Amino acid sequence: MNFCTPTTRKGSRPVSEDFANLAARKDLSREDLVRILGATEPADVETIRAEAERVLLENCGNGVYLRGLVEASNACACDCLYCGIRKSNRNVHRYTLTADDILACARQCADYGYGSMVIQSGERADKKFIDLVETAVKRIKAETRTDKQPDGLGITLCIGQQSRSTYKRLFDAGAHRYLLRIETTNPALFAKIHPSDQTFESRVECLGMLRDIGYQVGTGVMIGLPGQTLEDLADDILFFAEYDIDMIGMGPFIPHPDTPLGDEPVLDVPDRVRLALLMIAATRLKLRDVNIASTTALQALDPVGREKGLKFGANVIMPQMSPTDVRQDYQLYPGKPCLDENAKECQSCLNMRIEFAGRTIGLYAWGDSLHARKRRENADDKPKD
Ligand code: SAM
Repeated sequence: MNFCTPTTRKGSRPVSEDFANLAARKDLSREDLVRILGATEPADVETIRAEAERVLLENCGNGVYLRGLVEASNACACDCLYCGIRKSNRNVHRYTLTADDILACARQCADYGYGSMVIQSGERADKKFIDLVETAVKRIKAETRTDKQPDGLGITLCIGQQSRSTYKRLFDAGAHRYLLRIETTNPALFAKIHPSDQTFESRVECLGMLRDIGYQVGTGVMIGLPGQTLEDLADDILFFAEYDIDMIGMGPFIPHPDTPLGDEPVLDVPDRVRLALLMIAATRLKLRDVNIASTTALQALDPVGREKGLKFGANVIMPQMSPTDVRQDYQLYPGKPCLDENAKECQSCLNMRIEFAGRTIGLYAWGDSLHARKRRENADDKPKD
């Protein structure tokens, strides 16, 4: 990988000296974050990257945690204006895996030593689907226990907005993390990319419910949305801090031709990739001890995008574990990588990519974020009534 090295201006002061001071600041303001996100000079970008990597290694160590990703269903009741599996896209062949299918993927995760898995789907609140997820979660917890992982796989759910009782039921079944992206924290932009029955307020409310119930809470945004500003992205990072978020999953926006946002002008690919990487770095510099995923969308725009994400401060990767025959039906955006590779091929390819980025793989561990562990310890320390 060709990371830029700092150059010097007229042989004296490093060009990125200001950025070195800025990135090293512990309590970055909104203005600082905007400056970081707006860096375009390769030397400045490299200075920010190096500091974000240093902060990651200092706070979270060298390990990269793997969450096997299973796309349980592409049926969706929502009509988000950016998403390839939106309800009104008639070009999608819809599918739903069975509990046996999901369990087979989970067993494979356990065999490979992936400590956790993510069950993701379109947004469905129907009884049949929630029953299916509950059954799958219970069976995974019961049937993936091994000597190396006596508590079985850790389970993250990413199945959208649900009622409090559904969140509670799935938590009681054994899921312990939940990822619900806020998509953008600019309410006007949120309204522009969603139908009017989906509100910013209700998504925030869901994040609160998840925290109350006891989940480790993840959120994230799309980067490079039409009309999004650097100030919006800086506000997104401040939102993650304010809501005490444990894990972040975010990636570049990629227009899907079958969606209303498919024709909107967006940043060029290199600029969008740079901005997505700087967003990872800025989030790491501000939040320090959270888990940050290097997402598939980065790899969709750049063949080594996920490795770059790791170098800019990410510490989680979600290897594709869905059965090969449904992968092409779960396309949120065009260019999704690993469509034909089976789970074994994905595993060896990823191992290579992680080692290439100079990191080690955290096997047989849930890999909870340090942030979540600290909160739990603080709660344990509090005197009980
Ligand atoms: N339905 C669940 C939900 O809404 O939380 C989970 C699945 S949803 C399809 C997963 C994420 O994909 C969304 O939160 C969104 O950020 C991302 N996504 C959808 N369309 C995208 C696009 N065109 N480009 C980049 N990311 C996209």
